[in-house]
Amino acid sequence: MKTDKENIFIKSYGCQMNVYDSTRMSDSLGHEGYNETGQMDDADIIILNTCHIREKAAEKIYSELGRIRLLKQKRSEKGLETTVVVAGCVAQAEGQEIIRRAPIVDMVVGPQSLHRLPEFMKQRVAGKKVVDTDFPEEDKFDIFSSGEKKLSASAFLTVQEGCDKFCTFCVVPYTRGGEYSRSVAQLLTEAENLVSRGVREINLLGQNVNAYHGEGLDGRDWSLARLLEQMAQIDGLERLRYTTSHPREMTDELIGLFAGQPKIMPYLHLPFQSGSDKILKAMNRKHTGEFYRDIIAKVRKTCPSIALSTDIIVGFPGETDQDFEDTLEMVRKVTFSTAYSFKYSIRPGTPAADIAQQIPENIKSERLQTLQALLNQQQANFNKNSEGKVLPVLFDRTGYKDQQILGKTPYLQSVHVKGSPRLIGSVHDVLVTSGGPNSLEGDLVMPQT
Ligand code: SF4
Repeated sequence: MKTDKENIFIKSYGCQMNVYDSTRMSDSLGHEGYNETGQMDDADIIILNTCHIREKAAEKIYSELGRIRLLKQKRSEKGLETTVVVAGCVAQAEGQEIIRRAPIVDMVVGPQSLHRLPEFMKQRVAGKKVVDTDFPEEDKFDIFSSGEKKLSASAFLTVQEGCDKFCTFCVVPYTRGGEYSRSVAQLLTEAENLVSRGVREINLLGQNVNAYHGEGLDGRDWSLARLLEQMAQIDGLERLRYTTSHPREMTDELIGLFAGQPKIMPYLHLPFQSGSDKILKAMNRKHTGEFYRDIIAKVRKTCPSIALSTDIIVGFPGETDQDFEDTLEMVRKVTFSTAYSFKYSIRPGTPAADIAQQIPENIKSERLQTLQALLNQQQANFNKNSEGKVLPVLFDRTGYKDQQILGKTPYLQSVHVKGSPRLIGSVHDVLVTSGGPNSLEGDLVMPQT
C-alpha cells in the first residue's frame, strides 16, 4: 500500500466498456493508495483509456499527447514528475509505435493487461518504458479489486469481452481478442458488491453480449438469459439491461425475458448496420434484412411497448443509392427510439479497408444527414408519445437547475423533474408533461415525504 499519495487522472474515450474499465482501474489503483483527481493539471499519473472505433482515433490521441507533453514539461520545471499511460484499444493497435511518436509516454497497456497497472506503477523507474499488449493467461477480472466506494444508481458490469464474428469493418476481434465470457459465480459476486454500494440498475456489457456462455453455477455453460434470471434474484437490484447484442444471438429464451422477468427493462439495442443484403454480406454480418425484421417482430410480439435502438453504418464500400434506400426502408419499417449512425471509415488492418469501391466523403455525409433526419424524427415521436404517461424513473443525479433531479425511464429516456436529491438512488413514478427531442420533463406523482 502506498503512503505518499499520488494523484491519478483518467480520461476515458469511446464505449461503455472503456468507462467500465476506467472505473475498475480507478478502484484498483485507489485500493493501492492512489488518489483520483478530476484535474489533469494536478495529476502525477495521467491515463488515457483510448478507443479505436472512431475515425482517426489514433491521431486524436497523438494530439492529446502533444498537449500533455507541454503539461509534463511545465510540471518538470517545478520539479514534479508525471507518468503518462496510454491504455485501451489504441494502445493495443499501436503498441511500441506510440512511444516512438510520443516519447513522453511511459507506459502502453492494452485492454487485457489493465489489471497489471498497479504492479507497473510500483516498478516504475525513470526513463524505463513499459509496453504490454499481450493477452495474458490470467483473468484481469479476477485481479481487479471490487472496490468499496459508493456508486451511482446505475452501473455497468462487463460479462463478456472480445468477438469471433469478424465483421469486415470492425477492429474489436483484433484489439480485444476472441470471445471470452466470465463465470456466473464471479459476476454474481461483483453484482452483489455493486448493489451493496448503492447500485439499483446494472447494464451487462459485452461487445457481443448475447453470445455470453460463461461457466454456470452447475459447472455447465450458461446463456445470457440464464445469467440474467439468476442476477434478477439479487435483493435490492431493481433493473437489468444488456448491450450490445448481435441479431444472430437473439434467442427465444432471451426474447421471452422481456415478458417473463420484470427486472429486464423494455429496451433493446440491436445493431443492423445496413438494410441491404448485399452490403450485409460484404460486412460479414451473418444475417439478412429479413432475418433482422423477423427478430424484431418476435421481440415486439413479446413486449409491444419495447424501445428499440440500433447502430447503422452509411457509405460502406460498394454501397449504392439503392443499398442506402434499403437502409432507410429498414428504419421506416422498424422505427427506433434512439440510434447511433456513423459514416463508414477505414480501420487499417480490417478486410473492408482493402475494398476498392470506397464511397466519396461528400456522398457519405449526404447519406448520413438524410438518415439522421429520419432517426431524429423517430426519436422525437417516441418521446412525444410519452407525454401524459406515468413512468417509473430511476433517479441517478442532480440537474444543473436548483432542485432539479435527473433519471431514466425503463425506455432509457432521460427525465428532468423538480425534486429532492434524497430521491437519488431510487425509483419513483413520474407523470411526463413534455417530451422533447432528447429528453423528457415531468412531475413526481407522489408527494415527497
Ligand atoms: S459483432 Fe460487433 S464486435 Fe464483433 S466484429 Fe462485428 S461489429 Fe465488431
